[in-house]
Amino acid sequence: MTKPLPFDINRLHQALTVEADHGFDNLQGRQYLFADFLQQNLALTPQTQEIAQRYGEYQNYSPSQRRHLIAETRRLLYDLRRQELVASSRPPNPGKQTRKPLSLGADLTELELVNPKIAEKLAKVGLVQIQDLLHYYPRDHVDYGRQVAIAKLEPDTTVTVIGKIQKFSCFTSPKNANLTIMEVILSDRTGRIKLNRFWMGKRYSNRGWQEQQKRLYPLQSLAAAAGLVKRNQFGLTLENFEVEILSSPRDPIESDTIGRLVPVYPITEGITPELLRKLIIQTLPLAPTLPDPLPPKLRQAYNLIDLPEAIAAIHYPQNQTQLTQAIARLTFDKFFYRRLVALYRRQQQQGNAFVPESKLINQLAAILPFQLTAAQTRVVAEIRADLQKTSPMNRLVQGDVGSGKTIVAIYAILAAIESGYQTALMAPTEVLAEQHYRKIAAWFTQLHLPVELLTGSTKTSKRRQILRQLETGELPLVIGTHALIQTGVNFQRLGLAVIDEQHRFGRDQRSRLLQKGQDPHVLIMTATPIPRTLYLTNSEIEVSIIDQLPPGRQPIQTTLLKPSQRKEAYELIRREVVQGRQAYIVFPLVEESEKMEDLRAAIAAHGELQTKIFPNFQIGLLHGQMTASDKDQAITAFRDHQTQILVATTVIEVGVDVPNASVMLIEHSDRFGLAQLHQLRGRVGRGSAQSYCLLITNSKSQTAIERLQVLEQSQDGFFIAERDFQIRGKGRDEGTEQSGHAGFGIEDRLSDEAIRQQIFQISRQAAARVLAKDASLESFPLLKAEFERHYDRLQGGVIFT
Ligand code: ADP
Ligand code: MG
Repeated sequence: MTKPLPFDINRLHQALTVEADHGFDNLQGRQYLFADFLQQNLALTPQTQEIAQRYGEYQNYSPSQRRHLIAETRRLLYDLRRQELVASSRPPNPGKQTRKPLSLGADLTELELVNPKIAEKLAKVGLVQIQDLLHYYPRDHVDYGRQVAIAKLEPDTTVTVIGKIQKFSCFTSPKNANLTIMEVILSDRTGRIKLNRFWMGKRYSNRGWQEQQKRLYPLQSLAAAAGLVKRNQFGLTLENFEVEILSSPRDPIESDTIGRLVPVYPITEGITPELLRKLIIQTLPLAPTLPDPLPPKLRQAYNLIDLPEAIAAIHYPQNQTQLTQAIARLTFDKFFYRRLVALYRRQQQQGNAFVPESKLINQLAAILPFQLTAAQTRVVAEIRADLQKTSPMNRLVQGDVGSGKTIVAIYAILAAIESGYQTALMAPTEVLAEQHYRKIAAWFTQLHLPVELLTGSTKTSKRRQILRQLETGELPLVIGTHALIQTGVNFQRLGLAVIDEQHRFGRDQRSRLLQKGQDPHVLIMTATPIPRTLYLTNSEIEVSIIDQLPPGRQPIQTTLLKPSQRKEAYELIRREVVQGRQAYIVFPLVEESEKMEDLRAAIAAHGELQTKIFPNFQIGLLHGQMTASDKDQAITAFRDHQTQILVATTVIEVGVDVPNASVMLIEHSDRFGLAQLHQLRGRVGRGSAQSYCLLITNSKSQTAIERLQVLEQSQDGFFIAERDFQIRGKGRDEGTEQSGHAGFGIEDRLSDEAIRQQIFQISRQAAARVLAKDASLESFPLLKAEFERHYDRLQGGVIFT
């Protein structure tokens, strides 16, 4: 007998849904961060301890890794739920009563096919009322218009094949315990085709899970498989296919009565696709009674179809065009309401409107050895406009490495100081904080403004002095690390918080800084390009882009090398150093999770480079486990050219600024993310000399090499991030997300990136327009009701407390 679970599965599911809805941002709940909440709960029982541990790493995961982990958690929870249900199987439900006519708000149990047990399962995925079913959007459609007989298949066409399941197996590879294979053979009157699907991960080698797959695809049932035709060594097959049961011998469905495009719903444990389809077909007649909260003018302005039509079409569209229109409308809605809530919330906050006179800024401009680029000037203007409003700014400045974000932040800081407020600049490492301090202090001295540095290494007496000056308000700018967010650091009037390289900070750290003031303006700077789709879907933030480098920079020549070509790399380094330049040699090592063996490798390599390869040069060493003062020494020695080569881990990723360095050699480059490599590479090419970046990899994986080649071809951080995102996205399709609908969003169904971005953009515009017209929304009663529904969900939605 299974023991009852020590946590509430529904709450965990809710938390997963909210997190997925919010773009995998590690949301702050009332008490805990999302990842902590999951970790703590899942650690309570042995079945989930393994996955619990992975939530400890959530902070460091990429969005797609986060999405994966959530999908996996969801599947695991479904499995546990099922075990629980089996263990406590209940008495059968009493007979049905007579039925009322259906209405949108009616309970799903009003439907003939829904008994309490099914109702419970539906509730798991948020389906409680009839209208919820209408809003349960399919994740795909199988297109009968593309139906092709098996004998007529041609490679590289996207088709739908309909046939009987002749064979279905699901097993773990005898050669690789991590690999689970699903094999389906379909046949129609003209032939047969074999389809394979692969899952990576120990979880899928679970017998129960494999048996469950088998039950989902009974032999001899009629199935539709849609995908891209490809030839492999066994003949033709479908790549990335979707397979969908049309009717099983037990439960036939008249599929040809419902049009050519048949919806495929996110699979729900214990609910067959046929049942879901039947339920939705029964509720569809109610679609025309749905009110459309969007004002007709707005709908026309943005060319959107009305809601009843969109709902009817998202399930059973007449044709592809209608389907696309439905997806567009529903995507618009999703982002429109989110943005509306975000803007509304911000409008409620009472921040400080600055009225800068620009005296300080003009003084600074006069002493700067350069002029701002056009892009910097534009971003400064965007920031100034924000700062003059009472609703607090929440702006991200994104600009490639070396694009000059710091000076833009200084302009904002000066505007705040001039308006009588204090400011803080937080950086993720001491190295970076110190560097900012050094540079800014030089300027501030000339402006007769005090500035201090506060880090973990600040001496107690100094620290005490800084804290006092912050409290009295005499210190207008403090630069620092996490030390800034500790208790005991109190500002008299913090008006602006600047956060550099914010991806290195957790959401809680950011909010702790903000809590040091009263709704302060926030400026975030990052060189890690966030793909447009990701930031556009984040309704809370505005983005400014510095898309131009200061004049005179030369592109960095980047080359991918095999380990056997290391000699050539050393030759290049030798040549450059002899000419008076300097070089970095980088080993993969993530600060937060430095593995001892990696660290030893870096230290050993340093020894060997010094004694065997470059005995005539001075080689420094820099890694995360060194004390702050040792790090400082290593950097100073390199900056002052006492060392010519610096062997380093990724500690140097942000900040280290030595314009004389002209070569960077990166070992095991396949172990870094592309964006990170691009950041690292940005440490060279800061002067006017030609610079080089050499990427060594012994990976044979096609994907890995393809990824690294992106860096050879491009210097554009945006382009690199988008490509990285695409390539990793491709990896995701290789079969891991079959069941569960974690992270499925209606916007994912827009295959045209340009259209998707356009919809995100207009949804933001529309939200701003509506609020500009009527900040209270009173004149749009339907919209207001819908807004409130979303507001509750998004506010109260954060339920993991
Ligand atoms: P990042 O965007 O990577 O943080 P920084 O702000 O550190 O870049 O700027 C990189 C270098 O470029 C600094 O030495 C800075 O003083 C210089 N810089 C910034 N803006 C300009 C400009 N408009 N013209 C010339 N140099 C500039
Ligand atoms: Mg910077």
